[in-house]
Amino acid sequence: MDSVPVQSPVRSKVKVTAIPGDGIGPEVMRATQQVLAAAGAQVEWEEALAGAEAFRRGIAAGAPQETLDSIARNGVALKGPLETPVGHGEKSANVTLRKVFEMYGNVRPVRELPGIRTPFSGRGIDFVVVRENVEDVYAGIEHMQTPGVAQCLKIITEVGCERIVRLAAAVAEAEGRKKVTVATKANIMKLTEGMLKRVGEQVLKEYRSLSHEHMIVDNCAHQMVIRPEQFDVTVMTNMNGDILSDLAAGLVGGLGVAPSANLGDQAAMFEAVHGSAPQIAGKGVANPTALLLSALMMLRHIGDFATARRIEHALYVTLEEGQDLTGDIARDGEGVPTAQYVDRIIANLDRE
Ligand code: NAD
Repeated sequence: MDSVPVQSPVRSKVKVTAIPGDGIGPEVMRATQQVLAAAGAQVEWEEALAGAEAFRRGIAAGAPQETLDSIARNGVALKGPLETPVGHGEKSANVTLRKVFEMYGNVRPVRELPGIRTPFSGRGIDFVVVRENVEDVYAGIEHMQTPGVAQCLKIITEVGCERIVRLAAAVAEAEGRKKVTVATKANIMKLTEGMLKRVGEQVLKEYRSLSHEHMIVDNCAHQMVIRPEQFDVTVMTNMNGDILSDLAAGLVGGLGVAPSANLGDQAAMFEAVHGSAPQIAGKGVANPTALLLSALMMLRHIGDFATARRIEHALYVTLEEGQDLTGDIARDGEGVPTAQYVDRIIANLDRE
């Protein structure tokens, strides 16, 4: 490539664990790494295994110790999608990674992208969903009480509520945002969901530059569809956040373009929202945008703001012009291979 890397404030290369993952994972990972390399990102990749191949090797947690050691050492990972095995009693490798490193915050930006037309285009949608990532009904305590009656425990702690609300406030402050909406089902689950409402109200009072509000989560779903531009930062318990963050992704172009970050005190792991898309795996047609946008969140996390901005600009120009897009976002439905889309983004790195 003949593009000249812009001077970056990051002096030495930062080691990042790269988990290509399953299905389309290796294809979108390769595409993302090519764009970052062409832009001169100061990243040295350490490739690690997780997902289907780990299960095939009999590793029930879905990630071998070397992968966990690599993430522990580097503190930063970029991850492709991992297949969740069905019916063999294995754990989800995704859940393993989030739990081992106590990555309690899932941060998903929801922003209109140039050239991606949706029924909501032009509304100025630009908000962040902050989802608690390790508690709630996902704590995995589920059993048959008697035949025909199953029970699942919803676990919410004050510590968990406080740290997720503080993360939401930190995201708002870092991005110059003004409002945090705490969305809960406190009207029905007064102790569990009510805890997030109560802690949210207490904690957010400390942040003088931010306003805050509480919204019942079902109304929040409704409001996200009828007036999504009212939101700035939203914070929710695990399952509510899981559902509403997918709804939010749908407002701005869907899974192919939705990035995310899993944040904890020991490690941060960046990944696309989508799964392994087995139907299109190996065909060279997957859209790498979601993983690329996740990698831009990662670059900002490690302080390489200049490279992130440069790649973001090249991506936006590519999407806006609408030439050489993958099939899921191509305007005429005529998609090009992943490699051609990547070449176009790289060619646009030096565009004004
Ligand atoms: P999926 O996201 O893989 O696919 C849903 C639809 O979107 C499919 O039509 C797929 O072809 C399309 N799609 C997804 N990503 C795309 C991309 N980058 N470019 C073009 N089209 C894309 O969801 P699924 O089919 O429900 O799940 C498949 C597997 O992925 C399952 O094993 C699931 O457990 C796993 N999964 C993993 C993660 C993760 O690792 N974080 C997230 C979701 C699902």
